[in-house]
Amino acid sequence: MFANLSDRLTASFKQLRGRGRLSEADIDATVSEIRRALLDADVALPVVRSFTANVRERAKSAEVSGALNPAQQIIKIVNAELVEILGGQARDLHMAKQPPTVVMLAGLQGAGKTTLAGKLGLWLREQGHTPLLVASDLQRPNAVTQLQVVGEQAGVAVWAPEPGNGVGDPVAVARSGVQHARDKLYSVVVVDTAGRLGIDAEMMQQAADIRDAVQPDETLFVLDAMIGQDAVTTANAFAEGVGFSGVVLTKLDGDARGGAALSVRGVTGKPVLFASVGEKLSDFERFHADRMASRILD
Ligand code: GDP
Repeated sequence: MFANLSDRLTASFKQLRGRGRLSEADIDATVSEIRRALLDADVALPVVRSFTANVRERAKSAEVSGALNPAQQIIKIVNAELVEILGGQARDLHMAKQPPTVVMLAGLQGAGKTTLAGKLGLWLREQGHTPLLVASDLQRPNAVTQLQVVGEQAGVAVWAPEPGNGVGDPVAVARSGVQHARDKLYSVVVVDTAGRLGIDAEMMQQAADIRDAVQPDETLFVLDAMIGQDAVTTANAFAEGVGFSGVVLTKLDGDARGGAALSVRGVTGKPVLFASVGEKLSDFERFHADRMASRILD
């Protein structure tokens, strides 16, 4: 995903090789190159601005350290800034004091919500929880069956619309699913919701209605890392229309330019909790800013 950005950053550091110390001119030239590389990787402009300002500031006030040459000094600073914009230390999923914990998934159609529900179900089960997946995406044909299939693969129960469970009404399905989890002592409920291909008022309203009905402990905004610059508008629209407490980045295994992944924390102020890195249920991990930063600077 970050191949081009990695190459560009590495090339800009190489230019500092052979320098005895970091001069102002070197810092300016390197920061300009970093700025161009980030913009070309589709990182959102405000994030690029604060990133480069911080790198410049840190580089100028960096103590001259005998142990590091100028290139190493800059790499260390850029690494620290990357970890910062990616969100620093990952936080855990918030668990409700009184189970079940309700986790709602929101995002555009195709972002990877249904797949994520299966992944999260498997991950939660492995953590010793008893999850229930709730099929409240009644928009996309097959979404319910797809959730049942991933639920089966993950060994996790699925609550689907049936007479009495709110056929045709996603809010009723969500409500009855959470009630079922309460009755049967499931510890975590993952509510899959409908997305549309683009931002859509009706979809937002439906997600907001589900949110109001189930009062989630976590609302996770699911963002396809391949969508580039649209990520910022999409994230802002969901922040306004539904609100969310955390982000899951999907398709990080893809070969897009990666700007969405680097921008989302800075733009929304919300932490990235998980990363989806493939189509298999096991292609899923907690999001680690430091690991991603090292991958970029590798
Ligand atoms: P939804 O509409 O948000 O529920 O999205 P889906 O879960 O149906 O996912 C849309 C497509 O993206 C499916 O073909 C998934 O297999 C695929 N997908 C989901 N997550 C990932 C991922 O992390 N990497 C890759 N390569 N594909 C993914």
